[in-house]
Amino acid sequence: MQQDLANRIEVTKGDITRLKVDAIVNAANTSLLGGGGVDGAIHRAAGPGLVEECRKLQGCPTGHAKITGGYNLPAKHVIHAVGPVWHGGHHNEGALLAGCYKNSLKLAVENHLKTIAFPAISTGVYAFPLERAARIAVREVQDFLRQNDSIEKVIFVTFGEDTYRTYQKVLAEA
Ligand code: ADP
Repeated sequence: MQQDLANRIEVTKGDITRLKVDAIVNAANTSLLGGGGVDGAIHRAAGPGLVEECRKLQGCPTGHAKITGGYNLPAKHVIHAVGPVWHGGHHNEGALLAGCYKNSLKLAVENHLKTIAFPAISTGVYAFPLERAARIAVREVQDFLRQNDSIEKVIFVTFGEDTYRTYQKVLAEA
């Protein structure tokens, strides 16, 4: 990977709700009203103001994203991206997952945000194969950053050793 691009992408381990960035991305569902996994953790840490704002958004289609405030989180905003459920790979899952990354980054730019952290969208309960998802995430972020100078840092937040190693490997090969 080109050095300047590599400097703008980071992989870290841990809990995304702890990060003090302009926006953390939530792996949300189409209702945007909360759920399990990272979604539950974000809503718990943000407090009830988040679900109140989410209620006004009237949901979000798969592959798209919507932005809210961060409430009690250290992050200023939450970008709620709806990843696809894995149904074997022939239901547009790859393009929909790519859409989550593209649309989240687009929202970040529109809102003048400079630092954004992503979890491994769809790789938990939604069962998207991890390495395939990581390749899509890295490719979409790299393509976007090549076209856009305003975002300073994208952080892939990995929860678990397996995910961390997979992102390291995919990034090393990119
Ligand atoms: P999905 O329904 O999109 O699959 P999940 O929340 O089940 O979403 O999982 C997405 C990824 O987020 C998984 O890799 C999971 O381990 C990870 N994850 C869960 N909790 C956190 C957290 N607090 N911070 C960062 N990542 C998390």
